Amino acid sequence: MSVSICTIGELIVEFLAKHKNQGFSQPGEFLGPFPSGAPAIYAAQVAKLGFESTLFSCVGNDDFGQMNIERLRNEGVNTDGITVINKAPTGSAFVSYRNQFERDFIFNIPNSACGYLSPEHLDESLLSRCTHFHIMGSSLFSFRMIDSMRKAIKMIKKNNGTVSFDPNVRKEMMNIPEMQQAFDYILEYTDIFLPSEGEIHYFSDQKNASETDIVKQLINNGVKHIVIKRGAEGASYYHANQELHIKSNAVEMIDPTGAGDCFGATFVSLFLAGYPVEQALKYANASGALAVSRSGPMEGISSMEDIAKFLAR
Ligand code: ATP
Ligand code: MG
Repeated sequence: MSVSICTIGELIVEFLAKHKNQGFSQPGEFLGPFPSGAPAIYAAQVAKLGFESTLFSCVGNDDFGQMNIERLRNEGVNTDGITVINKAPTGSAFVSYRNQFERDFIFNIPNSACGYLSPEHLDESLLSRCTHFHIMGSSLFSFRMIDSMRKAIKMIKKNNGTVSFDPNVRKEMMNIPEMQQAFDYILEYTDIFLPSEGEIHYFSDQKNASETDIVKQLINNGVKHIVIKRGAEGASYYHANQELHIKSNAVEMIDPTGAGDCFGATFVSLFLAGYPVEQALKYANASGALAVSRSGPMEGISSMEDIAKFLAR
């Protein structure tokens, strides 16, 4: 079966504060608009590797929306699942870096066009062509969106497809109660779970459980593959009877946005395509490193050739 991956969620524009610690409390210079949204970056990275990639989303009837659709199409993403709506403008995010590790956001997402995405926007014939569904936690910001995720999970599983889940928790979004509730439901159907090191603790009932204990517990509960992203420390892969760890590739960190999305897209694509798990992890690790070395959320996606060249340095 050939790999065909779909994602559902925010397709937005991002504006990046030009200076460190610039913040949002006084006028300053911003770079952008850049096409963005975690599921959109993920979808672009899947397509860039040469796999079938479909994104379901909504954009407004405006230049931001047009730019985003054109960009994704140019990267090879199937954009037939993107609906242009008149009710609201394309979503946006403003980002300012405090330092290499901490960012602040101002999101305009739940009330933007992509906040209107609901199950009726998911074309069933398009969905039935997909063998895998990837879920981004950052997209679980409304009941409509969560209902859409449920519809896709049901359909994909009915067709013997697989599901991956990256919690992608943003502190600015954790006060959305729908999001927490959806986590438990989604985990039940998750085949490949891709949390960051700092996120794994959201997935345990016990307060002080160690990472090892949480991983064990998740695998006992039916999650087949767990990949933990550790930023500049690399990544780990866990399976019932296997464990792999990889150190990151040394690069100059320019902009960490999108690293986790590119990493996830590369791991899931190659793993599903039948590459050995060691190679999927190695390529994903390189894909994340390449993403942080480029400025702009979607500007750091890479092809198989880019990755192979980078690893051969
Ligand atoms: P995001 O903020 O995009 O959600 P994340 O927390 O999901 O990120 P990270 O752990 O930051 O994901 O990055 C994903 C992967 O990218 C890491 O596991 C690693 O392979 C690679 N990576 C991230 N940061 C660096 C870095 N500074 N140097 C080299 N590789 C990196
Ligand atoms: Mg992430």
